[in-house]
Amino acid sequence: MRVLVVEDEVKLAGLLQRGLSEAGYAVDAVADGEQALWMAAENPYDAIILDLMLPDIDGFEVCSRIRGQGCWSPVLMLTARVDVDDRVRGLDAGADDYLTKPFAFEELLARLRSLTRRTPAERPTILTVGDLTLNPSSRAVTKSGDRVALTRTEFALLECFMRHPGETLTRTTLVSQVWDFAFETDSNVVDVYVRYLRQKIDRPYGSNLLHTVRGVGYRLGEEVGGAPSHSD
Ligand code: CA
Repeated sequence: MRVLVVEDEVKLAGLLQRGLSEAGYAVDAVADGEQALWMAAENPYDAIILDLMLPDIDGFEVCSRIRGQGCWSPVLMLTARVDVDDRVRGLDAGADDYLTKPFAFEELLARLRSLTRRTPAERPTILTVGDLTLNPSSRAVTKSGDRVALTRTEFALLECFMRHPGETLTRTTLVSQVWDFAFETDSNVVDVYVRYLRQKIDRPYGSNLLHTVRGVGYRLGEEVGGAPSHSD
């Protein structure tokens, strides 16, 4: 069993590393979110122990990004907070369990055993915006409960939007995330594919989830105030 410990408090990180090694785990330890993302992408961990408060990116963000990278290692989040909102946010971000500091090391071991007993099958977070859902694992898209058939490129573009709901994404960003390096960078291709997507997820439903942000790019999000904000 290989475990990644993400904890910036040196003393606690040391204790965890020593205790887990003694309990028979192979342990890697890092002290910030960026390193955690890198390590999680490079190594197939049986579990990740992730502190919420980190010096750079917080544990919520780390968790949702590693899930975004397609890593489904069980995540046990450590937090000094007891706030219910934090627990909910952590679970939404894809964490599997929570442990509030201070904790007994025995309890941490028990939680780890429980997490690593579960099937390591993919347990993707289904992305949802309004009545639109996208399952990155099964590659299924639904709108108002109907299955929507998308081409590979349309799916990749929609997934990119759904991972950044409410954010305006520039054509350049979209091209770099959806089309590979070899692609001749022509931002018109984005406009073309956005039009295809609208014809599948908005037009037939009279909805307007995919907005044009004039002079900038596009944004996926629910309408605010109900007024259509795009025209083409
Ligand atoms: Ca910390």
